[in-house]
Amino acid sequence: MSKSDLEIAFESKMKKMSYITKDLDLFEDDVENYGHYKAKLSLSVLERLKNNDDGKLILVTSINPTPAGEGKSTVTVGLAQAFHKIGKKAIVALREPSLGPTMGVKGGATGGGYSQVLPMDDINLHFNGDIHAITTANNALAAFIDNHIQQGNELDIDVRRITWKRVVDLNDRALRNIIIGLGGPTEGVPREDGFDITVASEIMAVLCLASDIQDLKARLKRIVVAYTNEKRPVTVGDLNVQGALTLLLKDAIKPNLVQTIEHTPAIIHGGPFANIAHGCNSVIATKMASKLGDYVITEAGFGADLGAEKFLNIKTRALGVTPDAVVIVATIRALKMHGGVHKTELATENVSAIKDGICNLEKHVETIQKFNVPVVVAVNKFITDSEEEISFIQQWGRENNIDVVLTEVWEHGGLGGVSLAETIVSLLKKPKEPFHYLYDLNDSIETKITKIVKEVYGADGINLSTKAKKQIQEFNENGWGNLPICMAKTQYSLSDQPQALGRPSGFKVEVRELKASIGAGFIVALTGNVLTMPGLPKKPAALNMDIDENGRALGLF
Ligand code: ADP
Repeated sequence: MSKSDLEIAFESKMKKMSYITKDLDLFEDDVENYGHYKAKLSLSVLERLKNNDDGKLILVTSINPTPAGEGKSTVTVGLAQAFHKIGKKAIVALREPSLGPTMGVKGGATGGGYSQVLPMDDINLHFNGDIHAITTANNALAAFIDNHIQQGNELDIDVRRITWKRVVDLNDRALRNIIIGLGGPTEGVPREDGFDITVASEIMAVLCLASDIQDLKARLKRIVVAYTNEKRPVTVGDLNVQGALTLLLKDAIKPNLVQTIEHTPAIIHGGPFANIAHGCNSVIATKMASKLGDYVITEAGFGADLGAEKFLNIKTRALGVTPDAVVIVATIRALKMHGGVHKTELATENVSAIKDGICNLEKHVETIQKFNVPVVVAVNKFITDSEEEISFIQQWGRENNIDVVLTEVWEHGGLGGVSLAETIVSLLKKPKEPFHYLYDLNDSIETKITKIVKEVYGADGINLSTKAKKQIQEFNENGWGNLPICMAKTQYSLSDQPQALGRPSGFKVEVRELKASIGAGFIVALTGNVLTMPGLPKKPAALNMDIDENGRALGLF
């Protein structure tokens, strides 16, 4: 039996932070150590290095995944290690894991096998406390809103129209809909409320899109938390708590530095989910990585229809830089699933199922090409993959003029990704083509959503609920019509129906509700049944977890 990710992680000897920071030419004052193997980087690094050239930005995304994930983080980490192996100064920039999936079904988000970031147990648990700080800032705001109402409600907030929810970074379906303020006049004003998972909080998105601390404060100030009885938006600025919220986030805004198993520097910062939020690590982290390294390898959550679409249409607008190349991770087992094979049969050789399922990969390649960015397919090799299956995909690549590279970074670390890294280096030698956005910010909200579903999902169009139509009208009246769109959709399918695998066609996407995230600077479009507070499965991953007599984590994958 192969070793677990945690066993491999514990067997790997980490280097002291000073080794990693020296490699990056960081000064002592740039680094705030959190123990021996974790640090935060001061924001002054950005100012000091602002005239450095930007490193090449490589975005890793995937096909529509199976519930276990397709190894996107694994390939992202492995690719950075591979760049190091071929003598390049590379940095990996990842998102922070959320405890919801860690305790629930998915497992961690620190890569796997011999391509992991360390210390994986700390990173998957509380790390440097950023998610706790975001949770606290979010819930402080909720408390300020309820206190404002209790103290006389000067702003005339309609308690039925408070859009700001409380959050906790766990999967806890019992908190989705709650009543608060029960117990009489001294106990608050009773109202309906609810919890989202922290990674869906607008404060997470704000932190990830802010360019510096002043921008963080300005964005927090713009957050809309409720509407008045006359339906006017109420903002954080109206409550005048933007200063307090920014203060709570003063350390969370600093990127975290750790290392991979092969001591490649890794910046891990911010963790919005890609199905219910915009799915990318922070703008500050990506910027800092590109000032410190010649190659930045970053990932966006779930498939290219979710994380990558939002990276390319939302994050690049805040970042001011577009990727130089995109890697689409595919696995043979997921392609078989898209070809109709049941999840219990994915380890059995089945070339004809791959033939049927490769349409999913084909669609994602086409999507990235629409943005006019070079694309490479990385086949993340599992030990169950057969020679015939692998050569089928490689042949498909040759026939369609698409670079398809077999990647064995899970098994062999950076060495297993050298051909992928070399393929990318040679692609990057060509001059960068002009980037093409899939929609214009001045398009109407309806047009922007329609363009995404047609161009990226392959849908025929959208059906707007009566509520969504009314919201579009209100948002336009409030002057929010020219913001980008953050789609909230299932990660399993190109459509809004999780069971529609492969490359569905002849469907429309149901947009049931919109949410104005004015601080983050986008409009969220909620489709299908996607939930902003997930539930736990019958047998949560937590059942396997424990701690031994030496204080070491057990069962974290
Ligand atoms: P994603 O980022 O796509 O969600 P991860 O990189 O987090 O996926 O990987 C999910 C799990 O799959 C991890 O436990 C990892 O160890 C495992 N995994 C990834 N690639 C492979 C592989 N090639 N062989 C076996 N297990 C793998």
